Amino acid sequence: MFKKGSKLYAIRKSKCPKCHQGNLFKSSLLSGNGIYNMYIKCKECDQDFEMEPGFYWGAMYIGYALFSFYMLGTIALIFFFTDLSLNQSFGITLMGGLLMIPYVARKSRVLWIHIAIRYNKKIADKVAERKAVKINHK
Ligand SMILES: [Zn+2]
Repeated sequence: MFKKGSKLYAIRKSKCPKCHQGNLFKSSLLSGNGIYNMYIKCKECDQDFEMEPGFYWGAMYIGYALFSFYMLGTIALIFFFTDLSLNQSFGITLMGGLLMIPYVARKSRVLWIHIAIRYNKKIADKVAERKAVKINHK
């Protein structure tokens, strides 16, 4: 399911939606260089990552859905499977949630661009071929 070349792999690894090979972000989340430190275009296939101003506003809805799902699910799990009260369950879940905000914000952008742009096998094959040629010439 998370095999290289699959959509889920590209989402998990934050890869370009069109070729599944170029990175969307310049650095990892833990590097401290900002949550939204994205490339303007794909380094491999030249796909534009910000097609129009405000493109990523839509990612807010994805982030809202992901965060709500996490909060409700985790509160229910803690409340029903431990002896903690509802308020304690909420507090623990919220603390975890606050730590997850940068990750959720990034992943919602990744999901949003993967909804907007389709995978293109022809372009992906061209990129893979070009990469193979580069490696052979080293
Ligand atoms: Zn690409």
